[in-house]
Amino acid sequence: MKIGVSSCLLGNQCRYDGAGSKFEFVVDVLSKYFELIPYCPEEMVFGIPRESIRLVDIDGEIKVISNKIQKDVTNELSAISKTLAQKAFDDKLCGFIFKAKSPSCGVERVKLYQNNSNMCEKKATGLFAQAVQEKQPFLPIEEDGRLNDPWLKENFLMQVFAYKDLGEFLDSNPTFKNLVEFHTSYKYLIYAKSQASYKNLGAIVANHEKEELGVVLENYKSSFLAAIGEKGNINKTYNVLLHIFGYFKKLIQKEEKEHILSACQEYKEGIIPLIAVIKLLNLYVKRFNQEYLKTQKFLNPYPKEFALRSDLKAYK
Ligand code: SF4
Repeated sequence: MKIGVSSCLLGNQCRYDGAGSKFEFVVDVLSKYFELIPYCPEEMVFGIPRESIRLVDIDGEIKVISNKIQKDVTNELSAISKTLAQKAFDDKLCGFIFKAKSPSCGVERVKLYQNNSNMCEKKATGLFAQAVQEKQPFLPIEEDGRLNDPWLKENFLMQVFAYKDLGEFLDSNPTFKNLVEFHTSYKYLIYAKSQASYKNLGAIVANHEKEELGVVLENYKSSFLAAIGEKGNINKTYNVLLHIFGYFKKLIQKEEKEHILSACQEYKEGIIPLIAVIKLLNLYVKRFNQEYLKTQKFLNPYPKEFALRSDLKAYK
């Protein structure tokens, strides 16, 4: 399973001044689960060390200008960005982590200077990040700084694993029956993001128009990838917990019901983390051998060692 990374985040000394920007979460945690593929467009085209560059708005066009000698290097950086975006596509990545603020790698809020001035607004995207997004609009992407937010981190990793699952599923020559099974296993994970998206996906799987399998899979793919790119929140997740509880609420004692409902409520109020409720629900899933729930990705979306659901701040 491969994730693309701005090379300097791995600690590689490829920044303009020969320094790196090691991001511990990527190097110490993600490296245990993913093959990390480094990309540095600026190193490839300008070498190390090199002049620093900035994005400049010149008559409404975004140009890349070197800071000291004011040389326009837009064409060189644009060309290498497209080449590397093609490589990222060929590498079959499941996600990409970019270096924030960089005129090449920043995804959002990169400084855009006014021509011949030091005035800037944080509103641009780096050339390489833009080329990757144009080539693969649904690829899960994040920036290093944003991944310090437990909510964004949880959403990103859930998206990465779902992205990988879909790719493997589509590569397995699936039948209509397989599609129903795949879709069913993602019911509550998608519900926790958007019920409307799950309904839309359900309509594609139902295929009332009697489309060919290839057409249905193509439609399902784009809608699924859009759905997993949505962010979940605490209220939607709480509703999913109640839905899951509904599968065995008639099979248990009053005190047990109260215990589970109060755990769900405490999660909603930010008193206990989601993992505490999931552990409790999983006990009942096992006890009543709920085959339908056992297949739900929502209950096990990624390796538990990430411990993302142990953080109260992972849900907003
Ligand atoms: S931000 Fe991107 S271009 Fe700049 S050093 Fe890091 S990988 Fe290279």
